[in-house]
Order: sequence, then C-alpha cells, then structure tokens
Amino acid sequence: MIPYSTLTMTEPSVTFWGAAQSVTGSMHLIEVGSRRLLLDCGLVRGRRDEGRRRSTSFPFDPASLDAVVLSHAHTDHCGNLPNLVHQGFRGPIYCTPATCELAALMLADSSRIQDEGAVVASIVGSADAEETSHPYSRGDARRTVDRFVPVPYETDFAVCDEVRLRFVDAGHILGSAVSMLTLSHGGRTHRVTFTGDLGRRGVPFLSSPPQIPPADLLICESTYGGRRHDTLEAMAAKLGQVVRAALSRGGKILIPSFSLGRTQVVLHFLQLWMRDGILPRLPIYVDSPLAANIALVYHRYGDALEHLPAAGLPSVHYFRSPEEAREVSMASEPCIIVASGGMCDGGRILQHLRLHIDDPRCSIVLVSYQAPQSLGAQLLQRRPTVRFHGRQWNKWAEVVSISGFSGHADQDDFLALLAPAAATGKVCLVHGEPPQAMALAEGLRQLGFTDVAIPSRQDRVCLT
Ligand SMILES: [Zn+2]
Repeated sequence: MIPYSTLTMTEPSVTFWGAAQSVTGSMHLIEVGSRRLLLDCGLVRGRRDEGRRRSTSFPFDPASLDAVVLSHAHTDHCGNLPNLVHQGFRGPIYCTPATCELAALMLADSSRIQDEGAVVASIVGSADAEETSHPYSRGDARRTVDRFVPVPYETDFAVCDEVRLRFVDAGHILGSAVSMLTLSHGGRTHRVTFTGDLGRRGVPFLSSPPQIPPADLLICESTYGGRRHDTLEAMAAKLGQVVRAALSRGGKILIPSFSLGRTQVVLHFLQLWMRDGILPRLPIYVDSPLAANIALVYHRYGDALEHLPAAGLPSVHYFRSPEEAREVSMASEPCIIVASGGMCDGGRILQHLRLHIDDPRCSIVLVSYQAPQSLGAQLLQRRPTVRFHGRQWNKWAEVVSISGFSGHADQDDFLALLAPAAATGKVCLVHGEPPQAMALAEGLRQLGFTDVAIPSRQDRVCLT
C-alpha cells in the first residue's frame, strides 16, 4: 500500500476512503488517467460528531468525479450521496433499476428523519442542535435521485472510454450488485471486481450470490468473514421455541429489524414457517412505513425473488400510523410485531420497547448485528435494567439473538464463492471489523490466494 499523499500517479489506482477496517461509510475512489469514479458513497455511523464530520468533508473535490457506481441501496453504501451532490457532484450514478427505486426511498426517509431531528432540536433549544441539524436536505436527496441511471444486470456498459461496467446479482438484497469493471489505460486493461455486500448461499427468497471470477484486483466485503451463521433449521427451531414460549405466557414477540433487506427476509420465513406448522399461527404486524413502501418495490420486482404461493400463507399487516401500532401493541392478544430500528437506537421499535420491556411474558428477538454502544447490545447484556429515553427500565422481557437472518455471506459462503478467484492478483478486504477481515484473509490464503490485504482508510493500490 502506498500513502496517498506521496503519490504522483499515472497507473490506474483505487484508494479506500471508507468501510476500511470498519463496516460503515463504504467509499472507494478509482482513478484511471484523468477519470475519477467513486464506488459507493455510504453514510458513516459512529459517534455523532465523528460521523457527521466524515460524512460532510470529502477527501476529494466532489465536482471532480466523473461518475458513481452504487452497489446497493443500504444507507452505509448510498446514504452520503446527497452530501456529494450538495457539494458539487454533477455526474451520473449508475445502479441497477431496483436499486434506483429502493435508494430513492431510503434517501427520502433519511432526509425526512434528519429534517425532523433538526426541527425538534431547534424547537427545544437542545445542546445537540448542531449535531442533529441535517447534513443534507430533502432537496439534496431529490437532486441525487435525479442523477440515478439504471443499468440492468449482466449488461456490458461503457461508463467512459476508459471504464466498462457489468453488474451481477449479489444476492444480498433486491437490486444488490457485484460490480465488474474493466479499466483501460496506456494500451493495457485491468479487471477490478467490487463485491459490494454478498448474500448467503442457500437462502430461499433471495437470488444465490455468484461465483466470483479471477480479477487483477478484487475488493471484497468481510462483514462476517470469521463467522458461521445459524442454519435455516437451527433458526426455525430457535424461533419456534421462543414463539411457543411467549404464546404460552400470553405475551408478544417483538422483532427489531432494519426496514430494507432484513425485514423482508424475516417476513418470508415467518410466513413460510407458519404455513408449514413450524411456528404457531399468530398475527404478524410490521411497524415501519418505510418497509411498507419497500414491500411495494419488492412486489414489482417479484420475478427476481422466490415468492411463496399465496395459498395458505398468513397475511402481514403494515401499520402506517404510530397510533394504530400503539393500539395493537397495548391490546392483550399475543402477536408478532416486526418494527423498524434493527439496533433499537431509533425507529418505531422504541414505542413497543417502552410498552413491553418490563413485561416478563414478552420476548424480544434480535436478528441484526448490534453495534457495541447500541441499545440492542445493552439488551443482550446480563443486566437487570437497561437505559433508554432518559431513564432506567426493568428488563423483564426475554431477549434472544438469532443470527441466520443476515443477508451477508458467512465464512463458508465466502470461501465457496471466492474459490474460483484464487488466481486473482490482489484481494483487498473491506467492510469488516479487523477480526472478521483477518479471519477471512487467513481462509483465503489457505485457499491459495497469494496477496490478501486489509487496507486502512486512505491506503491506495496501484494497478501495474
Ligand atoms: Zn448491505
């Protein structure tokens, strides 16, 4: 790796500006001759001031970029695009047609939340007003969506004379893509593959993630590079136990879930397992207006997904208003409520936690990664109380974690999907905490990969 500041460069290069030894803020800069192309432009999560600073100050001039290639619609990959546009980016943003629609929903939602956060902070005169003021507006989000250019899967597309692009279905969420790029410079060509986020193998509903062919440079995610997910059978058995126990106590089952990706997979399996008698039949509610809108997009792209035949399936009811959700949550009947806020730090899940965290009849099922400082991580700790909304709450509800609902490949998936790519020149592992990336690096070396690196932020790789 070469320090960015010392380079005078003529060879094509990739510089890692985000999701380097971490899982947020995916952003990598490709330079070919005078062309500059950005892979993803994700929102950085972390402490508010740090995340905000990183999201609003780019290490390059956004106006100097020719284009963005977007892997998928999760906000850690697309959520900072409005800041890029706000600061002068005027090029096209290439992504699959489904990602165009889903990213439009995600950006509209995050700009709405940020607008509302700023209004609340200014009204109450909060000391956090500066931190909660939105880094971009709804107008920035709309102008970003105007720059989306849909590129279907498996289509060879010329980004410019120096760069060709082909998207392949990554099987992570609807529209997710592996970006296969061919860079031409000085009479030579270089193949660069960026996995974005890769899906799990053998999960019905989503497409299977692809086998990755050799490249000169492979930029690969490593979120769960050292983990093995629960099998579908183990997930069904564990969830069945939780649901039956809560039902026998007369309690509710709360499932905090990210609105895009995780919620659709969770609903798929709840319906499937209820139909097949693995789970007892209970009403299923979803408290997330964003998930309701996303469901419409998933429905439109039904051909890309394995849908269950409607016959015999339990129905799913989406709440639009918080009042309706509160009414059902306060009623005495057992039910399953899937609510937005995968790590419980925000979203509609908070209103249900307030109502049920101290109810020993209820169960909370965590199905997502829980960042160390999140409320979800607190819930998992063996402590009798938990703190949120400015007070301590008795934690009398059962808390269970089930890992298999992830849309990410685990170590076995990575090694199987990447095995055909062992002749790759160089692998750079991104989008993973160091222990996960290191475990995957070791596995890849044992598979015969000779050059596997875990770049730091600002590291640059030259293609020679
Ligand atoms: Zn993702």
